Amino acid sequence: MFSIGLTGGIGSGKTTVADMFAVRGVPVIDTDLIAHQITVPGGVAMPLIESTFGPAYVAADGSLDRAKMRTRVFSDNTAKAQLESITHPLIRAESERQRNAAQGAYHIVVVPLLIEAGDRASKVQRILVVDCPVDTQIERVIRRNGFTRDQVLAIIERQATREARVAAADDVVVNDSAATLETLQREVDALHVRYVAMASGNSKPRT
Ligand code: ADP
Repeated sequence: MFSIGLTGGIGSGKTTVADMFAVRGVPVIDTDLIAHQITVPGGVAMPLIESTFGPAYVAADGSLDRAKMRTRVFSDNTAKAQLESITHPLIRAESERQRNAAQGAYHIVVVPLLIEAGDRASKVQRILVVDCPVDTQIERVIRRNGFTRDQVLAIIERQATREARVAAADDVVVNDSAATLETLQREVDALHVRYVAMASGNSKPRT
């Protein structure tokens, strides 16, 4: 099936854009959501996380203690690699399952770190980047998450640069401070028409 990999930096508007495809009936597979679901109480990643990192990283309700794990992996690359070796195969398997079950001409896979991971892992036909200036990202994430400017900057510094992302893109949606939800929906609708046409023409995968 025709797959579009949707990516962008934190606060660029990936979720907003994905939701706009979803209202047009396009199946959206959100790898962030899957990452969250495998670490809720009873989530499939929890037994291995507990045996690898210890019960200190499991909250009282049995879910991942996200704040604690975030702090740990931010300063410890080995821990980060260990966590990823547990979660990534589970995320990939669930994402694959949802892709196989998806109906319609094409689907969207939201992969925040698509460029960083190399697009080969995601087997998408096209890469759609949601682009905006770093200042806009910072403003949005401060407003959405209550993070400090420095916290947002630290996250942005660990992600691909805006230039690298745009260079890897097949399509770009500009979601800067001038973009309204109405202009954004119009861009999404134009892409939707193109993607339906491409899917019926059955383009070859990128990888
Ligand atoms: P991401 O998923 O890339 O982190 P989101 O889609 O969650 O980004 O957007 C970040 C925040 O900015 C959200 O609170 C969202 O509602 C808001 N936002 C994104 N794009 C716009 C826009 N064009 N106009 C107004 N608010 C926006």
